[in-house]
Amino acid sequence: MSLFPTYNRFPFTIESGEGTVVRDDHGKEYLDFVSGIAVCNLGHRPSVVKKAIQDQMERVWHVSNLYQIPIQKEAAQLLTEAAGLDYAFFCNSGAEANEAAIKLARKHTGKDKIITFQQSFHGRTFATMSATGQEKVQEGFGALLPTFEHLPFNDTDAVLELNDDSVAAIMVEVVQGEGGVVEAEESFLQAIENKCAELGALLIIDEVQTGAGRTGTPFAFQHYGLSPDIITSAKGLGSGFPVGAMAGKAYLSESFSAGSHGSTFGGNPLSSAAVKATLSTIFNDQFLHEVNEKSSYFMKQLKENLENVQGVAEVRGKGLMIGIEVDEQAIDYVHKLREKGLLAVLAGPKVVRLLPPLTVSYEELDQAAEMLQTTLSKQSANLKL
Ligand SMILES: *Cc1c(COP(=O)(O)O)cnc(C)c1O
Repeated sequence: MSLFPTYNRFPFTIESGEGTVVRDDHGKEYLDFVSGIAVCNLGHRPSVVKKAIQDQMERVWHVSNLYQIPIQKEAAQLLTEAAGLDYAFFCNSGAEANEAAIKLARKHTGKDKIITFQQSFHGRTFATMSATGQEKVQEGFGALLPTFEHLPFNDTDAVLELNDDSVAAIMVEVVQGEGGVVEAEESFLQAIENKCAELGALLIIDEVQTGAGRTGTPFAFQHYGLSPDIITSAKGLGSGFPVGAMAGKAYLSESFSAGSHGSTFGGNPLSSAAVKATLSTIFNDQFLHEVNEKSSYFMKQLKENLENVQGVAEVRGKGLMIGIEVDEQAIDYVHKLREKGLLAVLAGPKVVRLLPPLTVSYEELDQAAEMLQTTLSKQSANLKL
């Protein structure tokens, strides 16, 4: 007995990894199209991040935010410049980044209500669990925080009908990740932005999964020309070093003054070194251009290979965040794919989610497409028996 059984774990251990390839404790190799759930966006052990952390290791690991941390400022500049925002606050996870966003929005507006959407995922702390629009995340924990309201996702009318002057913020994922790799419609997002302006509410975009280049732009909201007041980031931000961040517009700074919010570890020199090296690699036009090229290449292959396979309902996604919706339980496919040598992850019961490193090669994409085709065709044939 050692760990609380909060995860259903696959019965194998990944002992080492390099780039897209990981190796288990029996020496079997896999293409890792999970990337620690959109964390290892530069693949496993990227040398540029490794070197930055090693260099920082030789100087100082941790100092309190009571002191100047120049490398944290550099990381913040990379983040805010790419997002078109002004200030960043560093913490240690996606949930904490969303907590910071919720606290800031409430303090700044002096209002309490946060609107989010059904099937969203925002984290597992009390506020972010209350924000999350999935009962399975909330079950058994008693009363949730009362000031969260969930509207149906992609329901523009529901947004237009909002008429409530107690709304502090609307928080949305532009591609729902855990909720099934479901993209928001542009008109829906536009309605949210307009409604925020009308109600004097802040627009918070949860980029925890979609940020750090995952969808082919630094942040996914940039596909839609939105101008969020606040964004949150984590997962891919530190290439596996645990770190989260919230970024926002300049006028919000007076509400996050000294003593109002904090984090012991947030943005310490080691994590900031990881963020700086990660973002300076990803937030580069050529790098992101290649992500988009790989995405088009892979999506085309998947659509051609899979969309006429019985049992496959849809292939969808943005950048290298891809969902394959199937008619049966997706977990069966995930197991079969693992046996074949491809790691994939669920996004709800019926979606196989693929999150390869952004550095994945065309050859690896070909291999994955081939494994997906043979496995999904065979699997749906087996299921029909
Ligand atoms: C994973 C995720 C979170 C929570 O991040 P943690 O680091 O696990 O707290 C929040 N929002 C979205 C969209 C996520 O995908």
